[in-house]
Amino acid sequence: MDVLKKVPVREQDAKVRATNFDEVCLGYNMEEAMEEASRCLKCNNAQCVKGCPVGINIPEFVNKVQAGDIKAAADVIAEASALPAVCGRVCPQESQCEGKCIRGIKGEAISIGKLERFVADWSRENGVVPEKPANTNGKKVAVIGSGPAGLTCAGDLAKLGYEVTIFEALHKAGGVLVYGIPEFRLPKDTVVQHEIENVKKLGVKIETNVVVGKSVTIDELLEEEGFDAIFVGSGAGLPRFMGIPGENANGVFSANEYLTRNNLMKAFREDYDTPIIGGKKVAVVGGGNVAMDAARTALRLGAEVHIIYRRSEEELPARVEEVHHAKEEGVIFDLLTNPTEIIVDENGWVKGMKLIKMELGEPDASGRRSPVEIPDSEYELELDTVIMSLGTSPNPLISSTTKGLEINKRKCIVAEEVNGKTTKEGVYAGGDAVTGAATVILAMEAGKKGAKGIHEYLSSK
Ligand SMILES: Cc1cc2nc3c(=O)[nH]c(=O)nc-3n(C[C@H](O)[C@H](O)[C@H](O)COP(=O)(O)OP(=O)(O)OC[C@H]3O[C@@H](n4cnc5c(N)ncnc54)[C@H](O)[C@@H]3O)c2cc1C
Ligand code: SF4
Repeated sequence: MDVLKKVPVREQDAKVRATNFDEVCLGYNMEEAMEEASRCLKCNNAQCVKGCPVGINIPEFVNKVQAGDIKAAADVIAEASALPAVCGRVCPQESQCEGKCIRGIKGEAISIGKLERFVADWSRENGVVPEKPANTNGKKVAVIGSGPAGLTCAGDLAKLGYEVTIFEALHKAGGVLVYGIPEFRLPKDTVVQHEIENVKKLGVKIETNVVVGKSVTIDELLEEEGFDAIFVGSGAGLPRFMGIPGENANGVFSANEYLTRNNLMKAFREDYDTPIIGGKKVAVVGGGNVAMDAARTALRLGAEVHIIYRRSEEELPARVEEVHHAKEEGVIFDLLTNPTEIIVDENGWVKGMKLIKMELGEPDASGRRSPVEIPDSEYELELDTVIMSLGTSPNPLISSTTKGLEINKRKCIVAEEVNGKTTKEGVYAGGDAVTGAATVILAMEAGKKGAKGIHEYLSSK
């Protein structure tokens, strides 16, 4: 064993997985997990913990894995996180815990994410269940949205004895974990559903099909429904578009819609009644993780897929691992290229795209070199489907129906970073609804801080 190198993790072969929706990464088995855990230096001043937004005691749980006591490892993780099987799969560990790992200075960092995933999967397979708190304190809290922010806030409050009800607009709980991130990265019925059930086992109630702002307002929840405080974790699900001609044609999707139709409505499964016209030749515009997910989904539905991105590979905002997987599977990258128009046929359907080549100029405000059009470099690409993946912002429904809830220029709810306190008394907020589109673990951190803020507020009342 080379202690400087990670124990490699098994994956489905690229050619095979490009044709199915099964999980790409197969995870560690017990022997591999114990071997990987033995590489950890168990540092006294563990930098990895500083890189974890929810503060998991990483050396402690890794130590338990090395000893083969996986139940004890699960207990250590459960003190800080309600969604370990999710985080072990989708957190950008390379820029968080693993990015700070001391072992990574001279060799490869410990595979903290893969070990967390192993522990969580083992717990699920071995029936480890969280304990329900013995007593409730009689105070009621409503949580709006059942994504990672809402689930974490609800779980932490339930542990403190609050009666918590989550109100979710969709028919299924989980937020982006169920409607956005594809099955081949995050299995829904096993992994996500199990972690949601664990939050419910803490005593949290989840009411789906409740659109707060339409079915009921925040003011009504506080004044008429007897809730003592509210946490808003409603995410950032409103897609952006480019504003180019042809964008309203049939065959143009937002990445959110395309992914929701596949993940939540199971369009990829033949036994479901909600199919999608997946496309034979698809362009995905954008270079983030969401664009990679949309591209890899379209590929699995049988299309030739082009990523259209206006900067170069170096500036791609997606995780390196996602780009690598997309390439391995056969996604074509048309870099330094920007769409100027979607060409539409006489029946209103997409038939192609006009594009222009770009080159990199001076750095812009973000520090990245800005793309500049190369004159006379226009060309056309024949297509039948376009997926726009240009980012999202929070839906203004809640802010526009709640008196005294301030939002900023980007339509995000204004909330204090330390405790999620908004400008309206008794209302706390966190996750993408406050920061704009970010990550699962940052949403969880905000959920934790919101729970702490609500506990302090209600304890002092
Ligand atoms: C395709 C995709 C892939 C991603 N991949 C990754 C990844 O690999 N790693 C990573 O860390 N992050 C990833 N992210 C980002 C991450 O998923 C989000 O940052 C995170 O889910 C935000 O959590 P949240 O709880 O704030 O909001 P969400 O997960 O968006 O949940 C908000 C919930 O609130 C509900 N809601 C909204 N309005 C209302 C209302 N009015 N009433 C009731 N309910 C409402 C929504 O239906 C939703 O269920 C990805 C995002 C997308 C879209
Ligand atoms: S920093 Fe790395 S080596 Fe040190 S305790 Fe954390 S995981 Fe182990």
